[in-house]
Amino acid sequence: MDIDWNTIDTVLLDMDGTLLDRHFDDHFWLEHVPMRWAARNGTTLEHARTHLHALFRSQEKTLNWTDLDYWSDRLKLDIPLLKREVEHLIAVHPFVVEFLLFLKQHRKAVWLVTNAHSKTLDLKLKTTRIGAYFDGVVSAHQVGLPKEDDRFWGALQGFITYDPERSLLGEDSETNLGTAQRFGIRYLVYVSRFSSTIKPLASRRFASIEYFSRLIPAQGEMSVTISTE
Ligand SMILES: [Mg+2]
Repeated sequence: MDIDWNTIDTVLLDMDGTLLDRHFDDHFWLEHVPMRWAARNGTTLEHARTHLHALFRSQEKTLNWTDLDYWSDRLKLDIPLLKREVEHLIAVHPFVVEFLLFLKQHRKAVWLVTNAHSKTLDLKLKTTRIGAYFDGVVSAHQVGLPKEDDRFWGALQGFITYDPERSLLGEDSETNLGTAQRFGIRYLVYVSRFSSTIKPLASRRFASIEYFSRLIPAQGEMSVTISTE
């Protein structure tokens, strides 16, 4: 895929896994919450893991998945408080700030578009300070649909003025890139190194990058080529 930055006005970026290391979220939901839940319910960690895993899966691709109030209530745990206990793991991926500075320099409209809940957003934007690089933030909870829903990207136009033909979306979810593709967003980029602890695997459907430095053209140029598998 050739990306000519002269043909792009708007850049839509996912947060978790795309800009921020998903190690935090994976560790939080797969280790920290089961540990706290086991302690509260007097069960083994093994049982907590199995039980919670099934509960989480049951809410996949819905807004509940990222709704901290939903999980606080469902698990009888103070989820925002537990997140703060491991906030030292919240980290921005390498080259994200350089990429955001490149976009600013070339006056692109840059939007953070996330399924994350407002309480997660507050914590992460405060911890990482990346909020200042964006024209704005739209949460799927405001839109009322998760990005996994085909109607999401059209509904987003009620919040952001953007031309899908002149837009780029960066995501670590192939599902979300798929809904964006069906809506007609032209440039779709999959971030394969979504967590610092995994071995990246390129997408078979979308142009893949490990780091956003791949999208920054050489000095004096405005286009880059990303190979697809
Ligand atoms: Mg993500």
